[in-house]
Amino acid sequence: KQPVLIVGAGHAGFQLAASLRQAGYGEPVCLINDESHLPYQRPPLSKAYLKGGGAPDSLMFRPDKFYRDQNIELIADRAVAIDRATRRLLLASGSSLDYEHLVLATGARNRLLDIPNANLEAVRYLRTLDESEALRQWLVPGQRVVVIGAGFIGLEFAATARAKGLDVDVLELGTRVMARAVTAEISEFFQDRHTAAGIRLYLGVQATSIEGHDGKVTGVSLSDGRHVAADLVVVGVGVLPNVELAAEAGLPVASGIIVDEQLLTSDSNISAIGDCALYASQRFGGSLRLESVQNATDHAKCVAARLTGDAKHYDGLPWFWSDQGSDKLQIAGLTTGYDRVAVRGDREQGAFSAFCYRSEQLVGIESVNRAGDHMFGRRLLAANGSITPEQAADISFDLKSALS
Ligand code: FAD
Repeated sequence: KQPVLIVGAGHAGFQLAASLRQAGYGEPVCLINDESHLPYQRPPLSKAYLKGGGAPDSLMFRPDKFYRDQNIELIADRAVAIDRATRRLLLASGSSLDYEHLVLATGARNRLLDIPNANLEAVRYLRTLDESEALRQWLVPGQRVVVIGAGFIGLEFAATARAKGLDVDVLELGTRVMARAVTAEISEFFQDRHTAAGIRLYLGVQATSIEGHDGKVTGVSLSDGRHVAADLVVVGVGVLPNVELAAEAGLPVASGIIVDEQLLTSDSNISAIGDCALYASQRFGGSLRLESVQNATDHAKCVAARLTGDAKHYDGLPWFWSDQGSDKLQIAGLTTGYDRVAVRGDREQGAFSAFCYRSEQLVGIESVNRAGDHMFGRRLLAANGSITPEQAADISFDLKSALS
């Protein structure tokens, strides 16, 4: 039998290979990846790994023995074209592989900054192990870093850099940090915490050019005429899903590779999962493309189940976390499109949750240093449950009573 070919060995691709074997899938499985490392985890790249002196091995999902034992073939190459008619995948090395089923788990890549001098050596990005390794060399006390973009990765990096003794400025086009992803309550809390740690935040501004001298970065110019000095610039302005392989093979793509409720493309021999997949969501209606470990992992498990005879619609409940300095943000559900927020806990004490409602129905919970609320949210929302905003805000209300 021809193998299941998986393009991309990030969280989604790795999990799919592992889950196929766990489900007893006995046919060949190949993981094709264009990064020269064993499959590894990304979240620590902007957190513990960046901060500590750990070796790359600490990031690997499994040692190479696992792949040998499980008979998962790792192929270090780049997939460049799909011949759907003959079910063949072409690789950059010139070789090709036939497939029974092809899974695109190609993830996403950094969106590049398009302003003058953005190609200087000290303008850096943070998505891969190699990029995190390279950035570690720059984390020297006293260095001045400007972070462009106050999303999760920009802020995680900023907090780590500050803790390492760097002088940190963060520029953000929006009027609050993480505005696309969290409520104003959470943004304001983190703005205060980062400012208290000594990070300078510039909101509502755009970087218009990087200034340099002799190939070195000297600063960043802002849209409001200000200039911020810098030795290093770290860019965190979002990612672009890797859809080109699918698009060139004639598969429908939009802001991701379009897949149905079962994560199948328009070609029944090709699935797409993880960051690259724009999936039809039964749970939320419409289509969604999410960038999280949960999404990648649960997509993979759903496809592994389908390929081993247990086809069902994907119905994972989104959840996410971000560590910034000593604070842990956790999100359960989708906190977009809400019309009411109830706050539980004590913001001043640095432990609270924002319960988000749409038409009286709880849609998501954002928790800061309140892991119990988060775990409660994951269980309640997965079961499509709700509690009232009044109950949420009442700290004496026993959340567990809503789960029975
Ligand atoms: P990816 O991890 O992007 O993997 C795709 C792989 O496919 C890549 O290695 C890529 O090089 C390879 N590839 C692409 N095209 C080809 C091709 N044609 N041929 C061969 N190989 C190819 N999520 C959380 O939930 N919590 C967090 O705290 C968190 N922190 C993060 C911190 C950082 C610094 C980053 C970068 C991400 C973080 N994320 C976090 C997001 C999470 O890591 C991603 O959602 C997840 O990695 C997506 O997995 P994926 O397998 O879909 O894609």
